[in-house]
Amino acid sequence: MPDGAADSPLPPALRQARHEVAAARFGPARALAAPVFHAARDRGDWPVAADAALLLGRACGNQRESVEALRWAHEALQASTRAQRPDLACASWVEIAREQAREDRGALAQQAVEEALALVPNLADADVLEQVYSGLTAVYSDLGLTVLAVSCARHALAYAEGSDDVARRCMARTNFLIIGAVACEQGLEPDPEGTQRLLAELLPHLDTLRTEVPQVASPLAEARLLRVVAPLALCEQRLADALAAFEALSQRADELPAPLACSAWIELGLLRRRLGDEAGARDCGRRAEARNPVPDAPRRWMDLRRLSLIKDLLGQPQEALALLRRSQDRRHFLVMSALESRAAALSVRLDQQMLRVENEDLRRSNATLRASMAHVSQLAATDPLTGLLNRRGLEPIWADLIGQADGRCVLGLLDIDHFKRVNDQHSHIAGDTVLRVVARLMGQELRGGDQIARYGGEEFAVLLTGPDAAAARAVFDRVRRAVERHDWTRIAPGLAVTLSAGVVAVREGEPFEEAVARADLLLYAAKAAGRNRVMDALDGRPGGLPPGQETP
Ligand code: GH3
Ligand code: MG
Ligand code: MG
Repeated sequence: MPDGAADSPLPPALRQARHEVAAARFGPARALAAPVFHAARDRGDWPVAADAALLLGRACGNQRESVEALRWAHEALQASTRAQRPDLACASWVEIAREQAREDRGALAQQAVEEALALVPNLADADVLEQVYSGLTAVYSDLGLTVLAVSCARHALAYAEGSDDVARRCMARTNFLIIGAVACEQGLEPDPEGTQRLLAELLPHLDTLRTEVPQVASPLAEARLLRVVAPLALCEQRLADALAAFEALSQRADELPAPLACSAWIELGLLRRRLGDEAGARDCGRRAEARNPVPDAPRRWMDLRRLSLIKDLLGQPQEALALLRRSQDRRHFLVMSALESRAAALSVRLDQQMLRVENEDLRRSNATLRASMAHVSQLAATDPLTGLLNRRGLEPIWADLIGQADGRCVLGLLDIDHFKRVNDQHSHIAGDTVLRVVARLMGQELRGGDQIARYGGEEFAVLLTGPDAAAARAVFDRVRRAVERHDWTRIAPGLAVTLSAGVVAVREGEPFEEAVARADLLLYAAKAAGRNRVMDALDGRPGGLPPGQETP
């Protein structure tokens, strides 16, 4: 601990309160810590006051009392400043960020993260750094920024590894594995190689965790182990092991805090459905519904998503889809506002740096900053589901792309046929997977210079640069056939997917919207002509081949 800590030993009540928080007993923790805070503040013992306020903030946050939690976090910040303790101030900012993230306020959360990160260079103590990074893991995971959450969890674990307290190592390792499993699940379709690398990093930790959990001997740690085993088995396609782990976990659902219990039932239900046990899935839906921590009028993306999955299990696909839409919209907004706030912070730092560019060192760090800014704007132009460019990403580069290709550009608008039925008959999770796989199949059929974007819900825009009419026609036929021939039954029994496309030669200097409108007319014609076909106007007249008569 930093110097200041030595002159104010922790009062026993506060130490007891910490144990209560660790055991998820937040009410008793608050009852113990509040008097400690008031007494410390009255006698001007700012380090203890800050410590107590932080703990109170954390406990209120876990009890979803957001206003109180933020009030305590700000008390903690004030007390830390008076105590001149950067470690406590940093922890206070992390707490503020957590609360803002929990309430889906992306920009404010990210601003608090920036304040916390600015204090990190003043910290040397591994315990404190571990706390900071594990807090940031929770922030980024609430914000839906999974990749950043994984990297914070990895830092936190690295700091915890140095400790001889097995409970701490166990906790940090579990957190890393949980968020890592989420990242694997999200990454499986868009980035199979990256996911394999991450899995290879996670699995040895799972072995270590299995040896640590018995030493900790806590029911919560055991439940959290199952919570890790199950999704990792799923990522490895070991369905029977995953089922056993989820079943063991849901057996103990009564002992678990509500969000953990609810998600255990949901995941068991989804797996049962995947294995064809519809009645079992519904039963899980009902049990999840009974433990849903936010059953009515959810607003946050996670709560909306949870309710959507429950409705889906209960056999109410329309409600499920409407909730999923709202959840995705909110999450998108949240991610964007957090990223924009990060970009703003980086550009302020970049401006400051520019004023001081004097030597090679500074120039180099500018390059790093620029790279992170480029990374941020790249994220903003990316569709999170498929990893493709989104419309916002394609539009600004359109003029350059068609300018460079000397007037030989071909635009295709591709739309999955009867996609609504995929959602209705097989669940929107299956729908999302189909979108990811279609994106991957398209990528495999195209060349490096070609651009693919997710234009809307189940519509994709593909821009080919340089081909003649015959080559362009061959490309789109290949894409159409690749989708038609893919084995979709691995996603859901009986599933078949096809797509239709409208293809036009882009005119010199033609605005994006105009080319899209022309392609859209042909796409409409392809749908009207029976779907699963490509209609093009590449020779100046509309035409196209029905399936089965395409180029070899
Ligand atoms: P058509 O062959 O005429 O194109 O019929 P369709 O059912 O594909 O077209 P429609 O526009 O009626 O329905 C598109 C559906 O795609 C409805 C919408 O809810 C769903 N959808 C859009 N975006 C997503 C998404 O991100 N995930 C999932 N699962 N479904 C989506
Ligand atoms: Mg459509
Ligand atoms: Mg469609």
